[in-house]
Amino acid sequence: MNKSSADKSMISIGYGFKSQALAAKQIMIVLISARKKLALLLLSVVGLTGCVSVPPVPSASTESRSELAAHVNFLARPELGGRKPRTRGSRLARRYIEARFKACGLAPWSQATDYELPFGLGRNIVGVLPGSDPKCAKEMVLLSAHYDHLGKDETGKICPGAADNAAGVAVLLEAAKQISSLAQRPKRSIAFVAFDCEEQMLVGSLAFSCRDDVTKAKIAAVVNMDILGRDFFDVVRNTLFVAGTESYPALREQVCRFGTNAAIRVLPLGSDLVGPRSDHVSFESLEVPCLFFSSGPYRDYHRPGDTADKINFDALERSAKVVAGTVRSLAEGQAIQRETNAMACDANELRTVTTVMSEVSGHEEEAGVKKDDVAAFQKLEDQAQALIDSGRYGPLARKQLILDATGVLLPYVMPLESNGKPKMSEQEKEYLKEDLQFLQYLYLTYPREIMDGSRKLVGQIVRYHPGLFRGMPRFDFEIYDIPAQGLSLTRAGNTNSLRVFINQFSLSAEVKPTKWLIRAFRGNVSASLQEMNCDGTQEQLADYCLLQWISQGRNLTHAPALRKVLQAVNGEEPGDDPWKLVNRRVQRGGFKDATDWICQGLLSGNPDLTLAALYVARKDHDRRISAAVSRVIADRDLRADVRAFAIEMATTRAEKPVLLAMCDVLDDATPSWKPDYERFLDQSSPYATQPALKIIRPTVEKVCRDQAKTAKPIGDLARSGLRTATGKNFGGDASRWRGWLESHPKEKSL
Ligand SMILES: [Zn+2]
Repeated sequence: MNKSSADKSMISIGYGFKSQALAAKQIMIVLISARKKLALLLLSVVGLTGCVSVPPVPSASTESRSELAAHVNFLARPELGGRKPRTRGSRLARRYIEARFKACGLAPWSQATDYELPFGLGRNIVGVLPGSDPKCAKEMVLLSAHYDHLGKDETGKICPGAADNAAGVAVLLEAAKQISSLAQRPKRSIAFVAFDCEEQMLVGSLAFSCRDDVTKAKIAAVVNMDILGRDFFDVVRNTLFVAGTESYPALREQVCRFGTNAAIRVLPLGSDLVGPRSDHVSFESLEVPCLFFSSGPYRDYHRPGDTADKINFDALERSAKVVAGTVRSLAEGQAIQRETNAMACDANELRTVTTVMSEVSGHEEEAGVKKDDVAAFQKLEDQAQALIDSGRYGPLARKQLILDATGVLLPYVMPLESNGKPKMSEQEKEYLKEDLQFLQYLYLTYPREIMDGSRKLVGQIVRYHPGLFRGMPRFDFEIYDIPAQGLSLTRAGNTNSLRVFINQFSLSAEVKPTKWLIRAFRGNVSASLQEMNCDGTQEQLADYCLLQWISQGRNLTHAPALRKVLQAVNGEEPGDDPWKLVNRRVQRGGFKDATDWICQGLLSGNPDLTLAALYVARKDHDRRISAAVSRVIADRDLRADVRAFAIEMATTRAEKPVLLAMCDVLDDATPSWKPDYERFLDQSSPYATQPALKIIRPTVEKVCRDQAKTAKPIGDLARSGLRTATGKNFGGDASRWRGWLESHPKEKSL
């Protein structure tokens, strides 16, 4: 994450790719940057105008359809202002839900005295229906829906969030009423949960999931609802998607049967295809069924047009029947069979994809699909159909299908223009699409790890409750991993070739003091692809790996990946301490000391090795390093990006020998960078077909084109380096520069 973007943003998601010039050439695209101080959050809790009271719970039992409508109409009314957390509208929504929980006779969660479980940034609401069987009453089924929404959009219009997720809460309340009034209560307990802050990176459910009394609870299953009562893309009618049944085929059959009985089509999908889009993912590490019911995104999603009058209450009532049936059956106490072999790759999901894609592309106008995109929808349908026909739906094919689907659907399911900024350019949209695809790729690869990191972050925020005057220890979480097939080593005599690519994902957060003694909370999400490449002798490869390891210091997160590469190159377990290996290398090679060995790398003539050595040599002020760096700068046969990095380094060192070397290349017109240097673009590279690389390739190509256009000649870099280091300006006149440098009394630093 580069510093300037980290300073500006509260939440920024981005990815970059780091080439061999490491920090010198990191490209980072910041997606979402919003500066938000907690001060503003606190000040924004100002009452709304207008008067609204929470309607009493009707005494006579009314028909389910009209009750659902009453719930949605109340929660989505303009007076609730879009139910943004910490507002009066949110409080009114809470009172409404709590009154209905009370009427159902639900008990508070665990030791709580009422239904509200505050967590600093918001309040979850939990009511429990105790199980009837003493043997399994300790086991708990969670039924959840988030009650928060966005508040207003950037133009000040209220986003009422009727389908997202007043409708989900309505079904929650209806299920609570129906199940609690049964003559025979289910054997397991059921917790009815209305989460807050879902729209803020799932903070409400993450905070709930890290409570002690939740981690200790015996959760048997989770059923979450988000977005109900509308049609996917406004065209896929009378359909309820269910995600999370992939390891529970018996459960999936049962849910589909509930759908048939209720006259609504139930379409199963893999959980990871849906991605971390709602609260159930906060519980996925529990290895119990985590089902997600949704009718999917629609054209008014996250917009002021998401109003109650557009909800199809007949479809909502049918959805409610499926959800209530599923929860009752999960709570009935039979063991829930998990089949790990059934995981994900089944044809049900493919049929869902073909069905949905053909219905969307068959009603392109109604669905709002652009003419140019229709072909992409059809291609996805064909891709899924081909997989059904071939009968070969393996993990890799599945990953590719999901990433392609993400790319096609994203512009439609993420309103790209409603983040309060000027209209995005086509290029920015393209970047954003790629970034989100890339994040989806990482989530597909590391779902548990990413959610664990998020849970830890939220746990820390809840524990320290950072605010205007309260700090918090810095939070850092990182994944740094070589994926399967991400490491390749080919040997052919003296031309060995090492290619490694590394997935990197990090979450960080800190509270920094600002002016006025007030503290500001900042968090960052970053993701990148990094690479390690070296061609050369076996020994050069080993030196390269060792230098890479040293340059990362004692970073414990990075060490395992670096050790793995070194082990592959040397064929032996490298131990924990890279400096022990350096000492052995120094002895074996007959070097005077480590600096001597680093100089040998600098002067190897091998661009990859020289670059790695330069990176390590940055902090070494030995004269031998200066002499070697001078020779790197002056070596016109060496790859120009390596020499450019040496000039950059020499500029900060400002020592006489390196500055004199810069005088020698003032006439050098070689461009300092060429697209050939970028190994990510090498089509013959063993990882060229990796899904991650396919996603970022268009961006890498564009960035490389731009970079090639703006790359300065080596001579220009030397001239501006000399100016910066000395404060003088003799232009391209080498003899005047030399004269000035020679007459300068100090031998070493200027
Ligand atoms: Zn939602």
